[in-house]
Amino acid sequence: MGRTPDFLNVVVTSMATNDWFFREYGERWGDNIINYYRYIRDNDLFLTHAIMNPQNDRSKAAHEQGDEYTHLGVVRETADGLIVRGAKMLATLAPITDEVIIYSYPGFAPGDEKHAISFALPLDTPGLRIYCREETQDGTRSTWDHPLASRFEEMDAVLVFHDVLVPWERVFINQNVEAGNLLYPKTGINLQPSHQSAVRGLAKLSFVTDVTCSIADAIGVDGFLNVQNQLSELIQGVESIRALARIAEYEYSITDLGEALPNLVPLETIRGLLPKMYPRAIEILQTIGAGGLLMSPTGADFVNLETAADMEKYYVGRTGVSSEKRIRLFKLAWDLCGEAFGQRLLQYERYYSGDPVRKMAMFYNVHKKSHPSYPRVEHALEESLLMSEEIKGNGKQLDC
Ligand SMILES: Cc1cc2nc3c(=O)[nH]c(=O)nc-3n(C[C@H](O)[C@H](O)[C@H](O)COP(=O)(O)OP(=O)(O)OC[C@H]3O[C@@H](n4cnc5c(N)ncnc54)[C@H](O)[C@@H]3O)c2cc1C
Repeated sequence: MGRTPDFLNVVVTSMATNDWFFREYGERWGDNIINYYRYIRDNDLFLTHAIMNPQNDRSKAAHEQGDEYTHLGVVRETADGLIVRGAKMLATLAPITDEVIIYSYPGFAPGDEKHAISFALPLDTPGLRIYCREETQDGTRSTWDHPLASRFEEMDAVLVFHDVLVPWERVFINQNVEAGNLLYPKTGINLQPSHQSAVRGLAKLSFVTDVTCSIADAIGVDGFLNVQNQLSELIQGVESIRALARIAEYEYSITDLGEALPNLVPLETIRGLLPKMYPRAIEILQTIGAGGLLMSPTGADFVNLETAADMEKYYVGRTGVSSEKRIRLFKLAWDLCGEAFGQRLLQYERYYSGDPVRKMAMFYNVHKKSHPSYPRVEHALEESLLMSEEIKGNGKQLDC
């Protein structure tokens, strides 16, 4: 699965650890996040999050969209809380979660005040609608034919708020562009969740690698040089991610509050690499599986008396690999690399935690802040300057 329930629990824990940030904008917002963390913990609740404004006109700010409340915003304040209206996306697993937490990536512009909010609500709050995408499986497909797609569908949804009341005790940021924009960069609330995502990404990449190696072995193509090169590329990718995750754990630090934090740089490096490595892994699986991915019959053909013998004969793999084993393997591969289910997993890997293009740019900007100059480069320039002056002093011409 892409989004196991622990992901948002880690996010809420990180927010509660950074309650000081919310307090900077009001003591009650800090108390609210601590109380919410305790509530989620004590009741063992399962959360989704919707942190993106819907994709309407990305060239305009939230307050410049066609309608004032296309993007989720505050309509008014009442004695009981905020009345909110508008849409937010893309809440994975929303229909089966207990609660939703709303916050945002940085990017609010002056004028976006009413949209710069953070709060949490139960999913069955009156006025809150969940618009799901079409499911990638309809619940009737067999587990034999679709070993993954039939079992692991994760729904995604747009949440639309129709003048919904958010009680004051559930508000964490109230109409504050500065707080909305600084939540991520100032607190590092993405740090612990990045570790959770790194472990998940590693599990997923190594599973695709194992499936691809099994396919290559089952049809006897893993003796070919080109196939061996592709399989090694996959294995080395897994090892690179594994090494980065390990180094993030090994180079941990302890905060003043006693929280153990993994090193963010290798985790962000994983975040930069996986959106390229995972699609490449799927491409290699498709390339090695080739036409075999499309020649699989259904499980019914194996039990039909008229066709069973043909199944045994024409779908067999290399010596020692039965027809049934070969077909089931290719069906597993197809769920991963061909089915809508697998394509969603691919899209998830690209976008689950933001636009990879802007994430890479942010990574460089953070790097630049911590590396205002490069001493070894300065040293090399100084040395070469000294040498050239020495040569000049000796009356020799520089050979350009
Ligand atoms: C399977 C899946 C599950 C997800 N689950 C969740 C979830 O549970 N909760 C949640 O909140 N979100 C979730 N997301 C949404 C995710 O956060 C967004 O997809 C991601 O942040 C990218 O935003 P976007 O899709 O609106 O793309 P956009 O931001 O609209 O980008 C579209 C394209 O335009 C480019 N672009 C847009 N704006 C700029 C800019 N300013 N500068 C440069 N290039 C730009 C991008 O590079 C990209 O190529 C999920 C996404 C997917 C695919």
